[in-house]
Amino acid sequence: MDRVHDLVILGGGPAGYTAALYAARSGMDVTVLEKLSAGGQMGLTAQIDNYPGFPQGIDGFTLGQQMQAGAERFGARTLLAEVTAARLTGPVKELETSEGLLKARAVVLATGATPRHLGLAGEEALTGRGVNYCAACDGMFYKGKTVAVVGGGNSAVGDALLLARVAKEVILLHRRDTLRASSIYDKALAEAENLTIRWNTVVTELLHDQRLTGLALQDTVTGETDTLSCDGVFVSVGRAPATELFRGQVTLDPAGYVQADETTRTNLPGVFAVGDVRTKPLRQVVTAVADGAVAVHFAEEYLAQQGTP
Ligand code: NAP
Repeated sequence: MDRVHDLVILGGGPAGYTAALYAARSGMDVTVLEKLSAGGQMGLTAQIDNYPGFPQGIDGFTLGQQMQAGAERFGARTLLAEVTAARLTGPVKELETSEGLLKARAVVLATGATPRHLGLAGEEALTGRGVNYCAACDGMFYKGKTVAVVGGGNSAVGDALLLARVAKEVILLHRRDTLRASSIYDKALAEAENLTIRWNTVVTELLHDQRLTGLALQDTVTGETDTLSCDGVFVSVGRAPATELFRGQVTLDPAGYVQADETTRTNLPGVFAVGDVRTKPLRQVVTAVADGAVAVHFAEEYLAQQGTP
């Protein structure tokens, strides 16, 4: 494992595979490290309608596979492995993985973000037994049943609308009285007859026997408490950046995202951050892929300055 790759990319989502495509096309020796399968969070999205070029939309899993295939066509490699430690400060970056040690002259951090939890008692134990984080993955288990969705952003509203197509009843629980989600959803929300929104509502307890049986709720304005019987809850309260591996080496912003500007350069020479893990105003597939291309532009410049090792 003494070989030193030009570029290793941590994460095989849209940002990671776009970086891989650009790097491979410009002749770099590039490897993508991916834990599970291509696509990252995008791979869990049932229908993507805001990525240009697909007039009927496309499912995120297929798009992820196609992005991987596009990069591999030019020689990018994928190593299915979990990264257990990263040493990024020196001129040769070292990545310890479940498949051995990898060395690279430059690294692109494309680890994305993972779903945030509510932090309630029993939440971990009830995951998969009524508590869910991915409507596209688990929605089908709730055909004809009653489900709650927690959150008020684009993900929560998208999840609620998706679930309304299979479940008997969907209750969207939002802690404020206005949605954060785009108004593009307003019409669909108004038309979904089996979907109701409970405003100013937080979940205070997960009620259960072996599985989730309901939720204890509290009105944030009046303080009144209530319970809601339901078969499942989908927690859709945003995502937290996956930065555990490089905390203490790479500068993070106060919200925990990697501090990198539009050049995607981090505080460490030769380390670039792309996609959802980077500080940015809009986290979308289209902005993630743009980051991937930009990162390789600056990685090439960096490698040229370093010269051949
Ligand atoms: P988000 O935009 O950060 O929204 C998170 C929602 O969860 C907010 O409504 C927030 O409430 C609520 N929340 C946070 N913590 C909570 C808690 N502990 N208890 C109850 N509610 C809580 O996250 P997201 O919806 O996952 O979206 C992430 C990014 O992906 C965004 O940039 C989004 O635009 C993008 N995205 C876009 C699309 C699309 O364009 N179709 C689809 C999915 C995601 P407050 O509103 O009170 O803060």
